[in-house]
Amino acid sequence: MRDRFGREIGYARISITDRCNLRCVYCMPESGIQSLRHTDILSYENVLRICRVFAALGICKFRLTGGEPLVRKGAVSLIARLKKLEKVSVTLTTNGLLLLEIAQELRDAGLDGVNISLDAREPSAYRRLTRGGDVQRVLAGIDAAVETGIPVVKVNCVPLGEESRENVLQVAALARDRVIHVRFIEMMPIGLGSAFAGVDSGRLREWLEREYGSWTPLEESLNEGYGSGPARYGSLPGFQGKIGFISALSGCFCENCNRIRLTATGFLRACLNRDDGVSLLPALADSDDGRLFADIRAAILDKPERHDFIIQKEAARGMMSKIGG
Ligand code: SAM
Ligand code: SF4
Repeated sequence: MRDRFGREIGYARISITDRCNLRCVYCMPESGIQSLRHTDILSYENVLRICRVFAALGICKFRLTGGEPLVRKGAVSLIARLKKLEKVSVTLTTNGLLLLEIAQELRDAGLDGVNISLDAREPSAYRRLTRGGDVQRVLAGIDAAVETGIPVVKVNCVPLGEESRENVLQVAALARDRVIHVRFIEMMPIGLGSAFAGVDSGRLREWLEREYGSWTPLEESLNEGYGSGPARYGSLPGFQGKIGFISALSGCFCENCNRIRLTATGFLRACLNRDDGVSLLPALADSDDGRLFADIRAAILDKPERHDFIIQKEAARGMMSKIGG
Protein backbone atom coordinates (compact mmCIF):
# COMPACT_ATOMS: atom_id res chain seq x y z
CA MET A 1 0.00 0.00 0.00
CA ARG A 2 1.55 3.28 -1.12
CA ASP A 3 0.64 6.80 -0.06
CA ARG A 4 0.20 9.65 -2.53
CA PHE A 5 3.93 10.42 -2.39
CA GLY A 6 4.78 6.88 -3.45
CA ARG A 7 6.03 5.75 -0.03
CA GLU A 8 5.30 2.12 0.68
CA ILE A 9 3.69 1.82 4.11
CA GLY A 10 4.64 -1.45 5.79
CA TYR A 11 5.01 -0.70 9.47
CA ALA A 12 2.47 0.06 12.20
CA ARG A 13 3.22 1.23 15.72
CA ILE A 14 0.40 0.13 17.95
CA SER A 15 -0.11 1.75 21.32
CA ILE A 16 -1.98 -0.59 23.64
CA THR A 17 -2.19 1.69 26.67
CA ASP A 18 -1.57 5.27 27.73
CA ARG A 19 -0.58 4.17 31.26
CA CYS A 20 2.97 3.99 32.44
CA ASN A 21 4.96 2.94 35.49
CA LEU A 22 7.50 5.78 34.96
CA ARG A 23 7.25 9.54 34.59
CA CYS A 24 10.13 10.48 32.28
CA VAL A 25 10.71 14.22 32.52
CA TYR A 26 10.27 14.82 28.77
CA CYS A 27 7.30 12.54 28.32
CA MET A 28 4.89 12.67 31.28
CA PRO A 29 4.14 15.21 33.98
CA GLU A 30 5.14 14.18 37.49
CA SER A 31 1.50 13.88 38.54
CA GLY A 32 0.82 11.59 35.58
CA ILE A 33 -1.94 12.20 33.07
CA GLN A 34 -5.65 11.63 33.22
CA SER A 35 -5.69 7.98 32.18
CA LEU A 36 -8.13 6.76 29.62
CA ARG A 37 -11.01 4.68 30.93
CA HIS A 38 -10.66 0.97 30.28
CA THR A 39 -13.81 1.15 28.18
CA ASP A 40 -12.14 3.72 25.89
CA ILE A 41 -9.15 1.48 25.15
CA LEU A 42 -9.30 -0.82 22.15
CA SER A 43 -9.92 -4.42 23.15
CA TYR A 44 -7.31 -6.94 22.05
CA GLU A 45 -9.98 -8.44 19.77
CA ASN A 46 -10.22 -5.11 17.96
CA VAL A 47 -6.44 -4.67 17.84
CA LEU A 48 -6.23 -8.11 16.21
CA ARG A 49 -9.01 -7.29 13.79
CA ILE A 50 -7.27 -4.08 12.71
CA CYS A 51 -3.94 -5.88 12.40
CA ARG A 52 -5.51 -8.51 10.16
CA VAL A 53 -6.62 -5.72 7.84
CA PHE A 54 -3.19 -4.07 8.04
CA ALA A 55 -1.58 -7.37 7.08
CA ALA A 56 -3.97 -7.79 4.14
CA LEU A 57 -2.84 -4.33 2.97
CA GLY A 58 0.82 -5.35 3.23
CA ILE A 59 1.47 -3.67 6.57
CA CYS A 60 3.11 -6.64 8.25
CA LYS A 61 5.54 -5.14 10.74
CA PHE A 62 3.91 -4.40 14.05
CA ARG A 63 5.49 -2.73 17.05
CA LEU A 64 3.61 -2.61 20.34
CA THR A 65 4.16 0.51 22.38
CA GLY A 66 2.38 2.73 24.90
CA GLY A 67 2.51 4.29 27.55
CA GLU A 68 4.25 1.23 28.83
CA PRO A 69 2.89 -1.76 26.90
CA LEU A 70 3.96 -4.32 29.51
CA VAL A 71 1.72 -2.78 32.18
CA ARG A 72 -1.37 -3.85 30.24
CA LYS A 73 -2.53 -7.32 31.25
CA GLY A 74 -2.40 -9.89 28.50
CA ALA A 75 0.23 -8.10 26.38
CA VAL A 76 2.16 -11.37 25.95
CA SER A 77 -0.85 -13.28 24.73
CA LEU A 78 -1.65 -10.46 22.29
CA ILE A 79 1.86 -10.89 20.88
CA ALA A 80 1.36 -14.65 20.57
CA ARG A 81 -1.94 -14.12 18.74
CA LEU A 82 -0.48 -11.49 16.41
CA LYS A 83 2.36 -13.85 15.60
CA LYS A 84 -0.16 -16.37 14.29
CA LEU A 85 -1.02 -13.99 11.43
CA GLU A 86 0.82 -14.88 8.28
CA LYS A 87 4.13 -13.16 7.45
CA VAL A 88 4.01 -10.64 10.26
CA SER A 89 6.79 -9.56 12.58
CA VAL A 90 5.99 -8.31 16.06
CA THR A 91 8.32 -6.18 18.14
CA LEU A 92 7.95 -4.19 21.32
CA THR A 93 9.15 -0.88 22.71
CA THR A 94 9.37 -0.86 26.49
CA ASN A 95 11.02 0.97 29.34
CA GLY A 96 12.29 -2.46 30.41
CA LEU A 97 11.21 -2.31 34.05
CA LEU A 98 9.16 -5.51 33.78
CA LEU A 99 11.34 -7.24 31.24
CA LEU A 100 13.34 -9.43 33.60
CA GLU A 101 10.24 -11.30 34.77
CA ILE A 102 8.67 -11.58 31.37
CA ALA A 103 11.53 -12.02 28.86
CA GLN A 104 11.16 -15.79 28.56
CA GLU A 105 7.40 -15.54 28.01
CA LEU A 106 7.97 -12.91 25.34
CA ARG A 107 10.49 -15.14 23.62
CA ASP A 108 8.07 -18.09 23.80
CA ALA A 109 5.30 -15.92 22.33
CA GLY A 110 7.55 -15.40 19.31
CA LEU A 111 8.54 -11.76 19.82
CA ASP A 112 10.90 -10.74 17.01
CA GLY A 113 12.65 -7.91 18.76
CA VAL A 114 12.59 -5.55 21.68
CA ASN A 115 13.64 -1.91 21.97
CA ILE A 116 14.40 -0.80 25.49
CA SER A 117 14.43 2.87 26.37
CA LEU A 118 17.34 3.85 28.57
CA ASP A 119 18.55 7.41 28.92
CA ALA A 120 21.13 6.85 31.70
CA ARG A 121 22.93 3.92 33.35
CA GLU A 122 23.96 5.65 36.50
CA PRO A 123 21.27 4.91 39.14
CA SER A 124 20.74 8.45 40.43
CA ALA A 125 20.71 9.96 36.93
CA TYR A 126 18.17 7.35 35.78
CA ARG A 127 16.05 7.93 38.88
CA ARG A 128 16.05 11.67 38.20
CA LEU A 129 15.18 11.35 34.51
CA THR A 130 12.41 8.82 35.05
CA ARG A 131 11.29 10.26 38.40
CA GLY A 132 11.88 7.14 40.44
CA GLY A 133 12.90 4.30 38.12
CA ASP A 134 15.32 1.57 39.21
CA VAL A 135 17.94 1.22 36.51
CA GLN A 136 19.23 -2.12 37.86
CA ARG A 137 15.93 -3.72 36.92
CA VAL A 138 16.19 -2.33 33.40
CA LEU A 139 19.77 -3.49 32.98
CA ALA A 140 18.83 -6.95 34.26
CA GLY A 141 15.90 -6.92 31.82
CA ILE A 142 18.21 -6.08 28.91
CA ASP A 143 20.49 -8.99 29.80
CA ALA A 144 17.49 -11.29 30.18
CA ALA A 145 16.25 -10.29 26.72
CA VAL A 146 19.64 -11.19 25.23
CA GLU A 147 19.98 -14.43 27.20
CA THR A 148 16.52 -15.74 26.36
CA GLY A 149 17.36 -15.25 22.70
CA ILE A 150 14.90 -12.57 21.62
CA PRO A 151 16.34 -12.13 18.13
CA VAL A 152 17.01 -8.39 18.10
CA VAL A 153 17.65 -6.31 21.20
CA LYS A 154 18.10 -2.56 20.85
CA VAL A 155 18.48 0.22 23.35
CA ASN A 156 17.07 3.68 22.63
CA CYS A 157 18.49 6.74 24.33
CA VAL A 158 17.15 10.30 24.08
CA PRO A 159 19.77 12.76 25.36
CA LEU A 160 18.33 15.91 26.91
CA GLY A 161 21.14 18.38 26.31
CA GLU A 162 24.84 19.05 26.82
CA GLU A 163 24.66 17.74 30.40
CA SER A 164 23.83 14.27 29.02
CA ARG A 165 27.35 13.52 27.77
CA GLU A 166 28.27 11.06 30.54
CA ASN A 167 24.92 9.30 30.21
CA VAL A 168 25.43 8.97 26.48
CA LEU A 169 28.91 7.49 26.84
CA GLN A 170 27.76 5.01 29.47
CA VAL A 171 24.69 3.89 27.54
CA ALA A 172 26.74 3.50 24.35
CA ALA A 173 29.12 1.19 26.23
CA LEU A 174 26.32 -1.39 26.49
CA ALA A 175 27.05 -2.19 22.85
CA ARG A 176 30.71 -2.83 23.61
CA ASP A 177 30.34 -6.11 25.46
CA ARG A 178 26.98 -7.31 24.16
CA VAL A 179 25.34 -7.74 20.79
CA ILE A 180 22.94 -4.94 21.50
CA HIS A 181 22.42 -2.05 19.14
CA VAL A 182 22.27 1.34 20.82
CA ARG A 183 20.47 4.16 19.06
CA PHE A 184 20.55 7.81 19.99
CA ILE A 185 17.42 9.75 19.19
CA GLU A 186 17.17 13.49 18.81
CA MET A 187 14.61 14.96 21.17
CA MET A 188 11.48 15.87 19.22
CA PRO A 189 9.51 19.00 20.08
CA ILE A 190 6.45 17.00 21.01
CA GLY A 191 4.54 17.34 24.27
CA LEU A 192 6.90 17.96 27.20
CA GLY A 193 9.87 17.24 24.92
CA SER A 194 9.55 20.73 23.47
CA ALA A 195 10.99 22.13 26.74
CA PHE A 196 14.34 20.35 26.16
CA ALA A 197 17.11 21.24 23.78
CA GLY A 198 18.10 17.67 22.92
CA VAL A 199 21.44 16.97 21.26
CA ASP A 200 21.87 16.71 17.53
CA SER A 201 23.42 13.61 16.02
CA GLY A 202 26.58 15.44 14.90
CA ARG A 203 27.35 16.47 18.45
CA LEU A 204 26.60 12.97 19.78
CA ARG A 205 28.93 11.50 17.25
CA GLU A 206 31.67 13.91 18.35
CA TRP A 207 31.28 12.82 21.99
CA LEU A 208 31.37 9.14 21.07
CA GLU A 209 34.35 9.45 18.74
CA ARG A 210 36.39 11.39 21.25
CA GLU A 211 35.84 8.61 23.78
CA TYR A 212 35.72 5.45 21.69
CA GLY A 213 37.32 6.18 18.29
CA SER A 214 35.89 6.67 14.81
CA TRP A 215 32.31 5.77 14.08
CA THR A 216 32.22 4.06 10.69
CA PRO A 217 28.82 4.14 8.99
CA LEU A 218 27.51 0.90 7.56
CA GLU A 219 27.05 0.72 3.84
CA GLU A 220 23.53 1.65 2.78
CA SER A 221 22.58 -1.95 1.98
CA LEU A 222 23.83 -3.30 5.32
CA ASN A 223 22.18 -0.48 7.23
CA GLU A 224 18.79 -1.70 6.05
CA GLY A 225 19.38 -5.04 7.73
CA TYR A 226 18.79 -3.43 11.13
CA GLY A 227 15.11 -2.78 10.79
CA SER A 228 12.57 -0.76 8.95
CA GLY A 229 13.31 2.47 10.74
CA PRO A 230 15.13 5.71 10.13
CA ALA A 231 18.28 4.91 12.15
CA ARG A 232 21.65 5.36 10.51
CA TYR A 233 23.91 2.64 11.91
CA GLY A 234 27.64 2.32 12.19
CA SER A 235 30.36 0.68 14.25
CA LEU A 236 32.77 1.86 16.89
CA PRO A 237 36.12 0.08 17.24
CA GLY A 238 35.86 -3.07 19.38
CA PHE A 239 32.10 -2.78 19.87
CA GLN A 240 29.99 -5.94 19.32
CA GLY A 241 26.73 -4.07 18.76
CA LYS A 242 26.11 -1.21 16.35
CA ILE A 243 25.58 2.41 17.25
CA GLY A 244 22.75 4.20 15.44
CA PHE A 245 21.46 7.73 15.19
CA ILE A 246 17.86 8.75 14.62
CA SER A 247 18.04 12.31 13.47
CA ALA A 248 14.44 13.45 13.35
CA LEU A 249 15.41 17.10 13.27
CA SER A 250 18.90 17.44 11.87
CA GLY A 251 18.26 14.91 9.10
CA CYS A 252 14.55 14.74 8.28
CA PHE A 253 13.70 11.19 7.16
CA CYS A 254 10.09 11.82 6.16
CA GLU A 255 10.90 11.09 2.51
CA ASN A 256 11.29 7.41 3.37
CA CYS A 257 8.74 7.20 6.18
CA ASN A 258 6.99 3.83 6.00
CA ARG A 259 4.87 3.97 9.13
CA ILE A 260 1.49 4.65 10.61
CA ARG A 261 0.42 4.78 14.24
CA LEU A 262 -2.59 3.36 15.99
CA THR A 263 -3.39 4.93 19.36
CA ALA A 264 -4.85 2.97 22.26
CA THR A 265 -8.23 4.61 21.55
CA GLY A 266 -8.31 3.39 17.96
CA PHE A 267 -7.21 6.56 16.18
CA LEU A 268 -5.05 5.92 13.14
CA ARG A 269 -2.43 8.63 12.88
CA ALA A 270 -0.51 8.94 9.66
CA CYS A 271 2.30 11.12 11.02
CA LEU A 272 3.82 11.40 14.49
CA ASN A 273 3.56 15.17 14.54
CA ARG A 274 0.26 15.72 12.77
CA ASP A 275 -3.25 15.28 13.98
CA ASP A 276 -4.33 13.99 10.58
CA GLY A 277 -5.86 10.56 10.66
CA VAL A 278 -9.08 8.74 11.31
CA SER A 279 -10.85 7.10 14.21
CA LEU A 280 -11.40 3.47 13.34
CA LEU A 281 -14.20 3.13 15.91
CA PRO A 282 -17.09 3.69 13.48
CA ALA A 283 -15.59 1.08 11.14
CA LEU A 284 -15.17 -1.36 14.02
CA ALA A 285 -18.89 -1.07 14.73
CA ASP A 286 -19.62 -2.73 11.38
CA SER A 287 -19.67 -6.51 11.35
CA ASP A 288 -17.71 -6.75 8.10
CA ASP A 289 -14.33 -5.20 7.37
CA GLY A 290 -15.29 -3.14 4.31
CA ARG A 291 -15.24 0.24 6.03
CA LEU A 292 -12.12 -0.69 8.00
CA PHE A 293 -10.25 -1.32 4.75
CA ALA A 294 -11.59 1.91 3.25
CA ASP A 295 -10.76 4.09 6.28
CA ILE A 296 -7.24 2.71 6.64
CA ARG A 297 -6.58 3.14 2.93
CA ALA A 298 -7.90 6.73 3.03
CA ALA A 299 -5.73 7.62 6.05
CA ILE A 300 -2.64 6.25 4.31
CA LEU A 301 -3.39 8.08 1.09
CA ASP A 302 -3.72 11.25 3.11
CA LYS A 303 -0.40 10.82 4.97
CA PRO A 304 1.31 14.22 5.16
CA GLU A 305 4.50 14.71 3.24
CA ARG A 306 6.56 15.63 6.29
CA HIS A 307 6.43 16.27 10.02
CA ASP A 308 7.12 20.02 10.00
CA PHE A 309 8.89 19.93 13.37
CA ILE A 310 10.93 22.94 12.42
CA ILE A 311 8.02 25.06 11.24
CA GLN A 312 5.90 24.06 14.20
CA LYS A 313 8.60 24.13 16.85
CA GLU A 314 6.22 25.79 19.26
CA ALA A 315 3.25 23.61 18.54
CA ALA A 316 4.18 20.80 20.94
CA ARG A 317 1.39 18.60 19.70
CA GLY A 318 -0.01 15.74 21.71
CA MET A 319 1.60 13.70 24.45
CA MET A 320 4.17 11.14 23.36
CA SER A 321 2.83 8.65 25.91
CA LYS A 322 -0.53 8.76 24.13
CA ILE A 323 0.90 8.56 20.63
CA GLY A 324 3.38 5.79 21.41
CA GLY A 325 6.65 7.34 20.25
N1 SAM B 1 7.13 3.33 27.58
C1 SAM B 1 7.80 2.78 26.46
C2 SAM B 1 9.24 3.25 26.41
O1 SAM B 1 9.58 4.21 27.13
O2 SAM B 1 9.99 2.67 25.63
C3 SAM B 1 7.12 3.00 25.13
C4 SAM B 1 6.49 4.34 24.87
S1 SAM B 1 7.61 5.73 24.82
C5 SAM B 1 6.49 7.05 24.45
C6 SAM B 1 8.46 5.39 23.29
C7 SAM B 1 9.71 6.16 23.08
O3 SAM B 1 9.42 7.52 22.85
C8 SAM B 1 10.72 6.13 24.23
O4 SAM B 1 11.94 5.61 23.74
C9 SAM B 1 10.91 7.58 24.60
O5 SAM B 1 12.23 7.86 24.98
C10 SAM B 1 10.52 8.25 23.30
N2 SAM B 1 10.11 9.66 23.45
C11 SAM B 1 9.19 10.18 24.27
N3 SAM B 1 9.10 11.52 24.10
C12 SAM B 1 10.01 11.84 23.14
C13 SAM B 1 10.40 13.07 22.50
N4 SAM B 1 9.84 14.22 22.78
N5 SAM B 1 11.35 13.00 21.54
C14 SAM B 1 11.94 11.83 21.20
N6 SAM B 1 11.60 10.65 21.75
C15 SAM B 1 10.66 10.66 22.71
FE1 SF4 C 1 6.61 6.07 30.24
FE2 SF4 C 1 7.96 5.53 28.01
FE3 SF4 C 1 6.98 7.99 28.47
FE4 SF4 C 1 8.99 7.16 29.95
S1 SF4 C 1 9.03 7.47 27.72
S2 SF4 C 1 7.10 8.16 30.72
S3 SF4 C 1 8.57 5.03 30.11
S4 SF4 C 1 5.79 6.18 28.14
